Amino acid sequence: MNYNYRYRLRPSDAHLEQLTWTVDTCRQVYNHFLHRLNRTDDTSAYSEQKLLPSLKKWWDDLKDVHSKVLQKVVQRLYDNLSTLRGRKENGYRVGTLKWKAPGEYRSFTYSQSGFKLKNTSGRTRLWLSKIGEIPLTFHRDLPNDVEIKTVTVKQEPTGKWYAVLGVETPDDPSEKPENPERCVGIDVGILKYAHDTDGNAVESLDLSDERERLERAQRDLSRKEHGSANWQKQRKVVAERHAELKNKRRDFLHKLSNYYAREYDLVTVEDLDAKGLVELPGNSRNRAGAAWGTFLRMLEYKCEREGTHFVAVDPAGTTKECASCGVSTDKPLWVREHSCPACGFKADRDANAAWNILSRGIKKRLGAGHSESTPVETALPVDTPVSAKRVVETGSPHLKREPSGER
Ligand SMILES: [Zn+2]
Repeated sequence: MNYNYRYRLRPSDAHLEQLTWTVDTCRQVYNHFLHRLNRTDDTSAYSEQKLLPSLKKWWDDLKDVHSKVLQKVVQRLYDNLSTLRGRKENGYRVGTLKWKAPGEYRSFTYSQSGFKLKNTSGRTRLWLSKIGEIPLTFHRDLPNDVEIKTVTVKQEPTGKWYAVLGVETPDDPSEKPENPERCVGIDVGILKYAHDTDGNAVESLDLSDERERLERAQRDLSRKEHGSANWQKQRKVVAERHAELKNKRRDFLHKLSNYYAREYDLVTVEDLDAKGLVELPGNSRNRAGAAWGTFLRMLEYKCEREGTHFVAVDPAGTTKECASCGVSTDKPLWVREHSCPACGFKADRDANAAWNILSRGIKKRLGAGHSESTPVETALPVDTPVSAKRVVETGSPHLKREPSGER
């Protein structure tokens, strides 16, 4: 299994100069190979990487960049190329790969060699070949017995530097029981962030303070003279406000997805690709869609990590269908309660949807033969509204559980 661990680097001024120089040299190498790509037939990452040693004969700077880092630059160009081709095949209108200007290229990657994580007298440092030993804030441990495969060094638009360690754990996690006992269905929504079949109704995260701070910073920026020293300074502030907003949201999603992946044997959600987001007006549809996508991706890989079964089901009709008798009733978005005209079953709209999601998930997982008992036949829990803040503070929708900062 592969995971990424991200740490803040604390470079000295001398390191900073080296890091900036290395990024820029890599950017030039990228542009060099892009130029060749546009003018030479039948090139590949492999064939181009083989040219690197001879390039060093006249391009002296390259001797001061680790060879694997240079190979990765070429790889990155060809990865971008195949992404672009993939999009084209899928019917997207795409341009060509663009020359990278300074500021548009912000990272470089070591793979297999040229780096080492050191711990001397309680201080953790990352040794990077041709650059040196950079202290880093080791805010969380790596799992035992892992091998670091790659190190990506990256400067965020805020100006801060980070190291992303790509690690591989030796064995697959223990799979949870083949016949899952603790099962949950989760409905992601607009008014509430998530509603699950155990009665947790997690509210959306309140980001209005952060949004306001961002907007204020952007207004300040627009009042500064474009390109001036103050403008440059303010631009960093704007980038920091952006990062604040993003980090707060990610933190919330990490904690919520961790909770579900750890607590349950089977987690069922709606397949977002198939989910018609037509109920929503354009802008909020895109925003909600993006946030749900992030959540579901996190949930999926965390389930994989924990050995939890993850099932995405067809979302068609999950809000309309009655979780008790299966009869469909039209229900506009503003109708918050499910009240079945056929069987009289009453539930919160999203709770009803979550039950449908869970029973579809169980059917899909166990096959049609095992679907005699639908979950709703067991007692319905009383729905508990949970503020997103509680998830952020305790790491779960429950107050009693141990807080967990791990991701
Ligand atoms: Zn019914």
